[in-house]
Amino acid sequence: MRKKLVVGNWKMNGNRARNDVLLSALLEEARSEAVEVAVCPPFPYLDQVGRVLSEAGIALGAQNVSSFEAGAYTGEVSPAMLVDLGCAWVIVGHSERRTLFGETDETVLAKVRAALEFGLKPILCVGETLAQREAGNAELVVGGQVDSVVSGLGADVAAQLTLAYEPIWAIGTGRVASPDQAQAMHRFIRARLESAQVASSEVRILYGGSVTADNASELFAQPDIDGALVGGASLAAAGFSGICRAAAVVAA
Ligand code: PEP
Repeated sequence: MRKKLVVGNWKMNGNRARNDVLLSALLEEARSEAVEVAVCPPFPYLDQVGRVLSEAGIALGAQNVSSFEAGAYTGEVSPAMLVDLGCAWVIVGHSERRTLFGETDETVLAKVRAALEFGLKPILCVGETLAQREAGNAELVVGGQVDSVVSGLGADVAAQLTLAYEPIWAIGTGRVASPDQAQAMHRFIRARLESAQVASSEVRILYGGSVTADNASELFAQPDIDGALVGGASLAAAGFSGICRAAAVVAA
């Protein structure tokens, strides 16, 4: 039985004062035994956020990681540094990194490898653009993104992944995928893992893209949707806690 996982991606938002307010509200509301919860603040706030979360049973994650271990890589943050700061999770291959910062399937694979090597749990993001979906190529694109990492890692290691299906047209747009659309792609991803010999029954596949407290229950009720990667709604405690509660209700 896969435990539901809800991950907040704060993206490039927050400051120390606002984080404190958000965190104290989250500590009141977002905890639940039935659901795993993680928060991914920007790098400079990992320490601040991690100190608060460590007492609350909420895990800490980062939004990106270097594929390099250490040395002359100006501006990079290594997996060992993230572990040192208390991170358990790291988001890899978010569509904003792929489209705005030129991350390729190769870069993504290298980052996933580095994360795993240092004991971080990577959340591998995959998803298609609207044009790709409308051209009937959504499965081709998503399948290719999954395959490139799975074939690079090998089936046994790939079974340690968590995936996030994030249709690009749904990210930050308010246009959430319907439960049927999301379930169909999650089923496709799981089947793709299985056909690559990955033991997929314990691999969690999160949905991301305009998840809110209002639409989360229907998504979480789908058999292959194991939680959510939440952007905008993770910046307000009530919204994020509502999503965590929706996951807990489905899990009960
Ligand atoms: C995201 O950026 O991963 C995301 C899902 O954003 P939003 O929830 O705002 O659509």
